[in-house]
Amino acid sequence: MASKYLALPKGVSEARFDAAIKKFTAALGKDNVLTSGEHLQPYTKVMMAVETEKHIPSAIVMATTVEQVQAVVKICNEYKIPVWTISTGRNFGYGSAAPVERGQIVLDLRKMNKIIHIDPELCTALVEPGVTYQQLYDYIEDNKLPLMLSFSAPSAIAGPVGNTMDRGVGYTPYGEHFLMQCGMEVVLANGDVYRTGMGGVKGDKAWQVFKWGYGPTLDGMFTQSNYGICTKMGFWLMPKPPVFKPFEIKFDNEADISEIVEMLRPLRIAQIIPNAVVIAGTLWEAATCNTRRSDYITTPGHTPDHIVKQIQKDKHLGAWNVYAALYGSPEQVEVNWKIVTETIKKAGKGRIVTQEEAGDTQPFKYRAQLMSGVPNLQEFGLYNWRGGGGSMWFAPVSQARGSECDKQVKLAKTILNKHGLDYVGEFIVGWRDMHHVIDVLFDRSSEEETKRANACFAELLDEFEKEGYAVYRVNTAFQERVANSYGPVKRKLEKTIKRALDPNGILAPGKSGIRI
Ligand SMILES: Cc1cc2nc3c(=O)[nH]c(=O)nc-3n(C[C@H](O)[C@H](O)[C@H](O)COP(=O)(O)OP(=O)(O)OC[C@H]3O[C@@H](n4cnc5c(N)ncnc54)[C@H](O)[C@@H]3O)c2cc1C
Repeated sequence: MASKYLALPKGVSEARFDAAIKKFTAALGKDNVLTSGEHLQPYTKVMMAVETEKHIPSAIVMATTVEQVQAVVKICNEYKIPVWTISTGRNFGYGSAAPVERGQIVLDLRKMNKIIHIDPELCTALVEPGVTYQQLYDYIEDNKLPLMLSFSAPSAIAGPVGNTMDRGVGYTPYGEHFLMQCGMEVVLANGDVYRTGMGGVKGDKAWQVFKWGYGPTLDGMFTQSNYGICTKMGFWLMPKPPVFKPFEIKFDNEADISEIVEMLRPLRIAQIIPNAVVIAGTLWEAATCNTRRSDYITTPGHTPDHIVKQIQKDKHLGAWNVYAALYGSPEQVEVNWKIVTETIKKAGKGRIVTQEEAGDTQPFKYRAQLMSGVPNLQEFGLYNWRGGGGSMWFAPVSQARGSECDKQVKLAKTILNKHGLDYVGEFIVGWRDMHHVIDVLFDRSSEEETKRANACFAELLDEFEKEGYAVYRVNTAFQERVANSYGPVKRKLEKTIKRALDPNGILAPGKSGIRI
């Protein structure tokens, strides 16, 4: 007989799940326990190249207090129900709001959305998981606080807790979000409420200002993992600088990439340029300002180089388009601007575009907004390039060296094109590291293209690994595979910790390949 649920947790009978649902309802209230197909639909929309079926949740539960999160964990232990936690649930290209495995329940924390505290003098914040960046932005603006946010490109609709728990990044000098996190409250699988850093000291006021506390510092252990459910997070905010000077440098030739990285790395490491430097390729730029592939070519497969060149010319783009900014007092910015412009002049290539020259043109405008903490959703234009809603981020990490770039671009392009897909990529020089962020875009409404995209992603992982590269984060369909790239000792240690903290394996089994 067909089940009344869209899916059931692995090894749990319908009758047992009924009993668990009854308990969830008693603990959370009827409106906070959802099982109908209609209610589950927003949690099943994945963009990965696998069947939706593989990531369908069995139910959604919403908690509004820490005690309710504890109650959820207790019921999950009693009935051996696996629970996947989301904060704002916008992990697009990494699994969206859907669980890593079919049948897990989703604990949606979006209703826990209090900004508990913002201190404009110490420039710190403490928030609940459901707080969005837009909410924070509005709070800062309404209260005229001299503070600046850093966020991922889906800014307005995403939030700091989810993004930081997945070790996401942003575009201001505070863009390495986990580095700026300070103090975390976590519900453990046994129901204990643990506070990291100074958080366990009675009467202490330094929870949001001193990260390390005493003894082992465990914050990192809870990110990209399944060792606890974060219910509060502290983080640092940047004081709004008197002067913000965004700029772009356009480079005409693909071969310029090595020189660009060599030129910018010293400025980045010395903090002359204090934010992550983005070096976006032509198709990334074109797509984010709403160019569609079908405007140029309607035959299937990858887009030939001569068309990419044509788009570059038509849209006045560089082969590589560098974005960065200067922040500080007028004097500081003036000195650093001199250093930047002299470096470019010395290189003898690259056209600088200032904000005054760019005006309101895209993609400069949205990049400048991201670098100054103003939310926008312009980057979603990427999805219109090919259409069909398929997207998987492939983001190998390397040293920030010019010698890393050419071979990576060639390798990625060859693999993508072989599978009929395009290279839509950018390099981000974080500090000493570089993320090569490639959006594997495909038409998810075509079964055939979806299969190709899946094979393509697997090949990208394999071939990059052979060259010594691994990704910093990956969509839920490939988390087990990527865990292997980091070696057996790490996996063994992670399993040992998992077994100790969560003997029933109820917290997000499979996240980052970790299970009991
Ligand atoms: C066009 C586009 C551009 C993007 N650009 C960026 C970018 O610049 N930088 C970037 O980082 N990402 C980017 N992304 C990816 C993603 O959309 C963002 O990282 C987004 O911030 C993540 O969603 P979220 O903040 O709602 O987190 P959530 O979806 O709520 O959480 C992310 C993951 O963290 C874990 N988690 C969440 N909450 C908890 C909790 N309370 N306790 C324990 N674990 C938890 C879960 O595994 C969850 O799946 C982009 C996506 C798109 C579509």
